[in-house]
Amino acid sequence: MSILIVGSLAFDDIETPFGQSFDTLGGSSTYIALSASYFTDQVELVGVVGSDFEDKHFDLLHSRNIDTKGIKKVEDGKTFRWAGRYHYDMNTRDTLDTQLNVFADFDPHVPEEYRDAEFVCLGNIDPELQLKVLDQISKPKLVICDTMNFWIEGKPAELKKTLEHVDIFIINDSEARILSGDPNLVKSARIIRAMGPKTLIIKKGEHGALLFHGEKVFFAPALPLEEVFDPTGAGDTFAGGFIGHIAKTKDISFENMKTAIIVGSAMASFCVEKFGTQRLREINKADIDSRIAEFVQLVNFDIELI
Ligand code: AMP
Repeated sequence: MSILIVGSLAFDDIETPFGQSFDTLGGSSTYIALSASYFTDQVELVGVVGSDFEDKHFDLLHSRNIDTKGIKKVEDGKTFRWAGRYHYDMNTRDTLDTQLNVFADFDPHVPEEYRDAEFVCLGNIDPELQLKVLDQISKPKLVICDTMNFWIEGKPAELKKTLEHVDIFIINDSEARILSGDPNLVKSARIIRAMGPKTLIIKKGEHGALLFHGEKVFFAPALPLEEVFDPTGAGDTFAGGFIGHIAKTKDISFENMKTAIIVGSAMASFCVEKFGTQRLREINKADIDSRIAEFVQLVNFDIELI
């Protein structure tokens, strides 16, 4: 039940109305891998970093049993950098800076021992790199893909090419509207699924997530939290929990995807409680189980029609 993940490994500068953090370890694949590592011990990363990516950053990934053989270190290069500022509602943000650095001319090579991965998560990164990685995997059971407005607007044709090979696509509501060209999310879902993915998950930040599959739709709320400190990585953490649960259970039915959405939402709710990946490093299985139980309480209701 190995999960192969490609995405960014990054240093982030984050500003929220309540604090700031600089040079914080982040990146889409970092969050996905940390989150998925709570569900399987076969998490494999493909990516690239610069000489500023120190042993302590690798140690952090290894402490969660994440395999980093697929991460290339460019000794005279700099790691990807991103800077963002959150608005007062903590649900919207502006990207202040994106520096691709070593990702600009990265030609991914998937190690031989990763090529039979059953589950593949194409984290937010250049869609051309996502496809290059996918081309090297022999027969994945399930391919999940995430992206961001940066790539939807910057490389739309390449993204559409990648989407033809994707089973489950995860994006947020504003990105869905940009990609589909339609303001209505139900219509957007139809338009985007016609691009390839049979299943679409639209994240709505603090308002939960919608799952579209066949003719069926499922909605999962986000847990109302008193402390939202830093939403960076919440979407990736969600994806990591989702694919982690699917890989652990090896069940790709719609019913199990509904459970996976709740698991992903529970993982994302931890991520936002502290800056960067900090909270994701502290939790344990008991914390996750009790958070999932809170979700069950939140959405469990009986209706008696009179
Ligand atoms: P999320 O909050 O889930 O959208 O993920 C935020 C993470 O994505 C941050 O840690 C960033 O380093 C990373 N990120 C931001 N922009 C990009 C981009 N254009 N390509 C790849 N990763 C990015």
